[in-house]
Amino acid sequence: MCENRIDFTSLAVPGVQKLQPYQPGKPESELKREYGLDHVVKLASNENPLGPSDSVKQAIQSVMGELSRYPDGNGFELKHALANKHGVPTECITLGNGSNDVLELLARGFLRPGDNAVFSAHAFAVYPLATMAVGAECNIAPALAEESDQPFGHDLKAMLAAINDKTRLVFVANPNNPTGTWLEADALKAFISQVPSNVLVVVDQAYIEFTEGTDFPNAVAWVNEFPNLVVTQTFSKAYGIAGLRVGFSISHPQVADILNRVRQPFNCSLVAQEAAVAALADTDYIKQSVELNNQGMAYLTKSMNDLGLGTIASKGNFLCVKVGANSLDTYESLLREGVIVRPVANYQMPEYLRVSIGLQRENEAFVTALKKVMAL
Ligand SMILES: *Cc1c(COP(=O)(O)O)cnc(C)c1O
Repeated sequence: MCENRIDFTSLAVPGVQKLQPYQPGKPESELKREYGLDHVVKLASNENPLGPSDSVKQAIQSVMGELSRYPDGNGFELKHALANKHGVPTECITLGNGSNDVLELLARGFLRPGDNAVFSAHAFAVYPLATMAVGAECNIAPALAEESDQPFGHDLKAMLAAINDKTRLVFVANPNNPTGTWLEADALKAFISQVPSNVLVVVDQAYIEFTEGTDFPNAVAWVNEFPNLVVTQTFSKAYGIAGLRVGFSISHPQVADILNRVRQPFNCSLVAQEAAVAALADTDYIKQSVELNNQGMAYLTKSMNDLGLGTIASKGNFLCVKVGANSLDTYESLLREGVIVRPVANYQMPEYLRVSIGLQRENEAFVTALKKVMAL
């Protein structure tokens, strides 16, 4: 680099100076390069191990000829498909470049410097990023104890107590990543009803599809009742198109209108919109994904517990395993065996590793590698 006498960090806006960049799961290609491996198992980013569905691939093929055109900035077709599926008017829907984008739109639309957003300790890393980037404060509520029945999970009482007159947003992840912990319908609904009506409650349901067919609460059902409720969902996890970046929120139309003002005009790409419409229609793929996840979750939980390792019960497509104080060494050793998982020390869970549920052979490869590197 050329010589530079200016400290650009000090020129950045104050909130950004304090930010730590998001740490993504290590890409397969990087591990192969670094360790000279030709076979790698990636269980680090809660992706769908089945790969995208055939109907998604076909939909993508079918739009190749249109790539010189801008996407539909209003996302007409996708919004209609979503509105249909969720039983809400299209005016309630905001599309994002991943649901991450929608979380940022919420921060940009509703948080000013001096305001705060409330969320739990050990909650999803994007909440502090989105909050701090706009110069607002993070009001982090202490989580439930490791010994509780929802280890490191959201403590709704503590979250309510953390709300003050500067609070504009509350982020709730249900289930939460990385813990996998969750909130029951009654408790969550009671919480939302107690949050002051001028504070937006964002319920992040990135993993909701994995709870299909159970009594897990879907907060979309309450959007009519609570105008300050915003529900976010994504196509990155069960729908299997993380690489395309598409997510959305369902909210009161006036909130959607604000998000629409701050979003980039074409934040959801043409390919992403087309693929998401196809993904929504492919209910068999979701069914298959959920089944695979349930089997893999049962297998991994039992395998870990048989090895004497604790796990945190999870409603997502990932599992936190207590490997002990040397979790970062264990993570590194697993990399050398060609298995990528996710360290969660940056989530203040230094004794745990998070493993995404993969195909059966990938889950087995993880168990075999873990046994070897921990000498179990
Ligand atoms: C993965 C994840 C998201 C989704 O991110 P996208 O931007 O939609 O890929 C959102 N919230 C949580 C809690 C997640 O784990």
